[in-house]
Amino acid sequence: MCGIVGYTGKRPAQGILIQGLTRLEYRGYDSAGIAVQEDDSLAVIHRKGKVASLEHTLSHFDFQGTCGIGHTRWATHGKPSEANAHPHTSCGGHIAVVHNGIIENFAELREELEGLGHVFTSETDTEVVAHLLEEAYQGDLVAALRDACSRIVGAYGLAAICDMEPGVIAVTRKDSPIVIGQGEDGAYVASDMIAMIDATRDVVILGDGEYARMTASGIEYTDEAGRAIEPRITHVDWDLDLAEKGGYPDFMLKEIHEQPRVVRGLSFRYRWMSPMTARRGQYRTPFFAEKRPPLYCIAADTGSFCFLILLFCSVVMKILLSLHLRFLRPTPKSFRSHFPPFLRSYFYLWVGQQARRVPQARFLTAKIRFDSLRTAFCRG
Ligand code: GLU
Repeated sequence: MCGIVGYTGKRPAQGILIQGLTRLEYRGYDSAGIAVQEDDSLAVIHRKGKVASLEHTLSHFDFQGTCGIGHTRWATHGKPSEANAHPHTSCGGHIAVVHNGIIENFAELREELEGLGHVFTSETDTEVVAHLLEEAYQGDLVAALRDACSRIVGAYGLAAICDMEPGVIAVTRKDSPIVIGQGEDGAYVASDMIAMIDATRDVVILGDGEYARMTASGIEYTDEAGRAIEPRITHVDWDLDLAEKGGYPDFMLKEIHEQPRVVRGLSFRYRWMSPMTARRGQYRTPFFAEKRPPLYCIAADTGSFCFLILLFCSVVMKILLSLHLRFLRPTPKSFRSHFPPFLRSYFYLWVGQQARRVPQARFLTAKIRFDSLRTAFCRG
């Protein structure tokens, strides 16, 4: 689950969104994009790779719209590519949405929406939300979001804009963090408050099933039934350094607290992969235990203890895992000498204590054109 940012106010959104996305880069991601309300329509730009490459592309446009959303993606459904990068749009391009998390029932929803004539342009689970919003939209984006979310099973932080409601961002969440803040020049939303720390220290941590309608002049909060709710404002006294650590005294504690979310995401990827379904880029068939792909666990030194715990848990919980443990550092040298050729049908799990190993491992897998959907990276 990666990064969401959004802004609606008096200033052009483009620079604010890029600054927010840059602040979220520490989480790791494979592509980035923004959607801005520009005159009467939505301008949507996404790029595979770094925020800097998105920024470079945007320098040719220089949008002046003052309402927009942005995203850094960590692919769960569909390979990292420009087409799969968020924001995703409805058929007519009138609605754009960014999403953190996983929509578990997206395959059924996609089938249903395709049956209704919707045309999909990506392999992501997220795109179903854009089309659900299009189906439900009757002049009120938050109401449409509420309607769409009543159909969704899974975890999500969602922010959406539409060209028929200038200056409005609709936001909700379930099991994926969203914070909202009112700055002097407008309203901000992000998946991590570090993205808005320069604008405000008074934030609302949106609760599961709560909705926000953000405009330049104010933010309205409602519950699942559409009833107004009083926001709980949290004053955050952090400086940038403390904010980067999520308020924890050090990165280690922050990452320990992130573990449940990381493990949930990893186990979802593993459960939904089978050689057959992944090859076709489809995820329709949850596979049976005996068809699970071999799980290659790669770590060195202390990191490898994680796998001993994994092995222990799989025995105690009687989960059938085809585990292969490899104790090596993900460096080009150890790869060449120790590692079997990568196979697309295997799932590779890397654990590194040092954050710098993660880009290294990504680089190695990218270099051999390995589908990064089939790899998972954890720090901690
Ligand atoms: N499941 C979505 C995707 O694969 C969102 C991933 C994320 O949280 O970045 O596009």
